[in-house]
Amino acid sequence: MNPFYNPIFLSKIAKAYLFDIQRLKKISDVKLKRYQDHQLKKMVRFAYTVPLYHDKYKKARVHPNDISVIKDLRKLPLISKEDIKQYYPDGIISSKTSREQLVEIATSGTTGKSLSIYVDMFDIVTGLFGYLRTIREYEINWRKHRLTIIGDFASHTAESGYVTKGLQPRLPFDFLFRNIQWLDTNDEPKKIIKKINRFNPDFIGGYVGMLGHLALLKEKGFGKNISPKYIAATGAVLDKTLKEFIETTFDAHLFEVYGATETGPIAFECKQGGYHIMSDLLYLEFLKDDMPVNSGEAGKLVVTKLFGRGTPIIRYDAINDIVSPRYEKCNCDISGEMIQKIFGRDDLSLLLPGGRVLLPSSFSEIYSRVLYGLKTNKLKDTRIIQHNLTKIEIQIVIDDKTRGVGPSVEEIFSLIRKGFHEKVGPEVEIFVKEVKKVSKGGPRIISKVDKSKFRIKEYV
Ligand SMILES: [Zn+2]
Repeated sequence: MNPFYNPIFLSKIAKAYLFDIQRLKKISDVKLKRYQDHQLKKMVRFAYTVPLYHDKYKKARVHPNDISVIKDLRKLPLISKEDIKQYYPDGIISSKTSREQLVEIATSGTTGKSLSIYVDMFDIVTGLFGYLRTIREYEINWRKHRLTIIGDFASHTAESGYVTKGLQPRLPFDFLFRNIQWLDTNDEPKKIIKKINRFNPDFIGGYVGMLGHLALLKEKGFGKNISPKYIAATGAVLDKTLKEFIETTFDAHLFEVYGATETGPIAFECKQGGYHIMSDLLYLEFLKDDMPVNSGEAGKLVVTKLFGRGTPIIRYDAINDIVSPRYEKCNCDISGEMIQKIFGRDDLSLLLPGGRVLLPSSFSEIYSRVLYGLKTNKLKDTRIIQHNLTKIEIQIVIDDKTRGVGPSVEEIFSLIRKGFHEKVGPEVEIFVKEVKKVSKGGPRIISKVDKSKFRIKEYV
C-alpha cells in the first residue's frame, strides 16, 4: 500500500512538518538532551531486532537495557562497512519491518566501494524535512519561492532512491513540488545553466564541483537571468576562495549543508556561519584512538541515527569523514551540538612522511585554483595514485573540445604540481600526467601505502 494513503503515516508526517522542522529552535538544550536519550533507547531496542546488531551486541555482552542515556553509547561496539556487507540483505533489517515498506539505497563509490542499506518512507520524508529546515533558516519557503535542486540522480544514488524511487511514485509530485526544479548533476554544466536560466530560481542547491562550473560559465556570460539570493553547497569540502568566487559571481550568499547517504542531512550552516548538527535526528561522536577529541580538534566521525525503521545506524564508523567538533555555543537560537570544520574523507587521504596526513580539503583547495585562478573548466576528471610515501602520481583528463581555448595544459599541470608541492613538502615527488580517461565508477584516489603500519601524527 502507498503509505501516503495511510492516515497514521499522514498524521505522523503532518506532525513532523508542523513541529519537527522547527524543533531545534523550539526546545532548549536540556530538553533536546532528554529527547536524544529517549530516541537512542528506542533505536537500540529496535536495532536488537536486526540480526546484525543483535549478534554484535550479544558478542560484546551488552543489552538494550544497559543503554539509557547518550553517554552509554560508548558501551556499544562500532559498526563498520564490512559488518553491513556481511549481513546484507536480510540481516540488516528488522523482523518487525516488512521489505515492501523499504527502499534500498547505495552509497556513492568515490573509493570504488559501494554499500547498500534500507530506508523507509518516513526516513525519506524526514530527510527532506531536514533540508527544508536548512532553507527555512534563510527564510526560503518551498511553496512560495523558486528552488533549483541539482542532485545526483544517477540510478544507484541515495538521492535517486529518495526522490525517484521513494517520493515521486507515491505523491502528486509535480503538483506538490511545482516550485522546485530538479536537475541532474551528471549532466553537462552548459545544459544545466540553460535550464536554470529559464527557471530563474531564488535558491540553488548543488554539489561544490557543479556550482564551481556554473559560476565559471556565469562569469563568461552564460545564464544572464540567474540571480538567486541563496546558494547551498554540499557534497565536498569547499575552500574559502572558491566560496567567494561563487558568491561574487552570482551575487548571492552561499551556505554549506553536510550530509551522507546513510544518515540523510547531518549539519547546516546558520546565518551567523555556525555549523549546526541536526541534533534531534543524529548524535555525532568525534574520535581519535577511540577517545573523544577536544573542541576544534580533528577526529573520526562516528554517527548514530536517532530515527527510522530501515537499517539502524548506531555508532556507525564508515562515513569516513574527519571532522572537528565545536563545543562553544553559537549566538543564534538553534539548540544542539555543533561542528567546527569538515576536513573530508579519511579513506581518500594521502599519507606523508613524518606521520602527516593530507585530507581532501587540501585537494579541493588545489583543484579549485584551476577553476577560479586559471578560469578554465577543461580539467574534466582526475585520479590520484600514491605509489609510496614519497611518490604521488596525478592523472588528469583534459576536455578535447576546449583543449585549445584559454590556458595551456602545461599551465594547468604546473599549477597542480605547485599546489601539491606546497602541501606535501619537497621530499615527496609529484608526477602530473595526462590520460585519455579514468574509469567512471572507479576510485579517484588510490593509495598503495600500507595504512596499518602508519601512525597518524598530524593532519596537514
Ligand atoms: Zn548558529
